Amino acid sequence: MTKRKIEITDVILRDAHQSLIATRMRTEDMLPACDKLDKAGYWSLECWGGATFDSCVRFLKEDPWERLRQLRKALPNTRLQMLLRGQNLLGYRHYADDVVEAFCQKAADNGIDVFRIFDALNDVRNLETSIKAVKKAGKHAQGTICYTVSPVHGTELFLKQAKQMADMGVDSIAIKDMAGLLTPSATADLVSALKKELNLPVFLHSHYTSGMASMCQWAAIEAGVDHIDTALSAFAGGTSHPPTESLVAALKEAGYQVDLDLETLDELTGHFREVRKKYHQFESEYNGVDTAVLLSQVPGGMMSNLANQLKEQGALDKIRDVFAEIPRVRKDLGYPPLVTPTSQIVGTQAVINVLSGKRYENITNEVKKYLQGWYGAAPGKINSDLQKRAVGNEELIEERPANLLKNEFHTLKGEIGDLAESEEDILTFAMFPDQARQFLEQRKEGTLKPEPLEPKPTATSPGSVSTEFKITVHGETFDVNVTGVSPSGDDERRFFMTVDGIPEEISLETVGGFERESSGGSGRGKASKEGHVTTSMPGNIVDVLVNEGDSVDAGKPVLIIEAMKMETEVKAPISGKVVGVFIKKGDRVTPSEVLMEIEP
Ligand code: MN
Repeated sequence: MTKRKIEITDVILRDAHQSLIATRMRTEDMLPACDKLDKAGYWSLECWGGATFDSCVRFLKEDPWERLRQLRKALPNTRLQMLLRGQNLLGYRHYADDVVEAFCQKAADNGIDVFRIFDALNDVRNLETSIKAVKKAGKHAQGTICYTVSPVHGTELFLKQAKQMADMGVDSIAIKDMAGLLTPSATADLVSALKKELNLPVFLHSHYTSGMASMCQWAAIEAGVDHIDTALSAFAGGTSHPPTESLVAALKEAGYQVDLDLETLDELTGHFREVRKKYHQFESEYNGVDTAVLLSQVPGGMMSNLANQLKEQGALDKIRDVFAEIPRVRKDLGYPPLVTPTSQIVGTQAVINVLSGKRYENITNEVKKYLQGWYGAAPGKINSDLQKRAVGNEELIEERPANLLKNEFHTLKGEIGDLAESEEDILTFAMFPDQARQFLEQRKEGTLKPEPLEPKPTATSPGSVSTEFKITVHGETFDVNVTGVSPSGDDERRFFMTVDGIPEEISLETVGGFERESSGGSGRGKASKEGHVTTSMPGNIVDVLVNEGDSVDAGKPVLIIEAMKMETEVKAPISGKVVGVFIKKGDRVTPSEVLMEIEP
């Protein structure tokens, strides 16, 4: 008996490498596979959005729009799909409606057919403008449920959200299980309810993190799902997705119709298996099954991010405390699903709460904005004491946050000026202002250069120099491991190493036969006095709020630091007079350094 058709979306060009190799796959490694991908029989290929746009501009020095145009040309017969964070688009803040409209139109013009649109709080008001804009462009608008587990979340709440999105005119519904928390029975329950109550195709996107995603896919298929997301096996498993080939084999055997064939998939996976080797330096530590997520509910990507942050300041031993603090912060914030940007908002506050030893003594600006309503409505009740403390006498926002934002496209256009050669460039600038400006400047000068790739490590031959050693600086001992070096013909040789497990890179410029190191220390001393202003997180100085000679009261913000994509105010530890300011805007700082000195 032939059963119904199951359609497949492969995430190989977006989520798979985002999950496993920090979003580093370059367009040059995608294009050679496109002809085969195009003919394979996929319903769509996810290829844009999420972190790909950011990574292109920041690390790969590729124009993300140009990547999209190249993929469009190389994949003429297959739908191209993107992930869009509703009113946040691909950035980390809410944009005014005119920018959202322009972005959706331009993404459609350059090649996107299917827009998977989500909001981190599942607040459908934040999806309104993008859904309308996608429909206006004549493209497929997919409404997304961010799946999570909490005392307030369940089939009932998700179904209510799906109905609201259906009323807004979406073409399909996606279940987005970013942390791999779905169980087979919960999947069957939710899919059955959606298929019974709505007349729309249902898509399942489930990460393999906890090892249950394959089971969930099968439960979804038996419950009536229409579309499944998979990743070619070369980039499957771990925090990525279940393998395409396995699902296709299972479906065929069970009599379901599926357009893909195993021979083509095998050839494709062969290509990507080779490609993956090139990016070995970016391999995630979490590429196996990690069942800890079932207890902590912390998604894999967020876990490695937090581990790196803690490692950077020698506080890796606090990671269990941070994992225990995350659910408490999440409860205080009314149980937001943990997905960009709420995963960073919750994660950073949890780290600060643990490191400062006093919960909410420092509250990030993002947590304040969240509690004020700038991200939309929380799914559950928020801690009103904390809200009062963070927001103070300022007004709470009840309406759709973007109602309060004035159109900003023309302001952005003015800010970036001649550096923008197209509307697309202005949108890139809107997403990532600092990175985009640098990118556009380098493009103009013709100096765009992707971050270097570490050569593959070669086996150490007997008698060769050791690459691992310990060094002691000012009484502190560090484990240094040299992991690679760029070819010797380069003007600027790059050495790759890890210091206490943190990747570092040093360039040695060859100048007149002498080699000199091009990086240097900050020269800032170590904190020892009460009046020394320090930070609990390593980060970049965004703003300095006081000058030498100013009088400050204890608890008054004196500077703003950005860490883990979040801005936090650093407050005066004591009242007194500012006698030293040792940092300026843009400086990179670490904990224990003296940033300012206040004399009582
Ligand atoms: Mn995903």
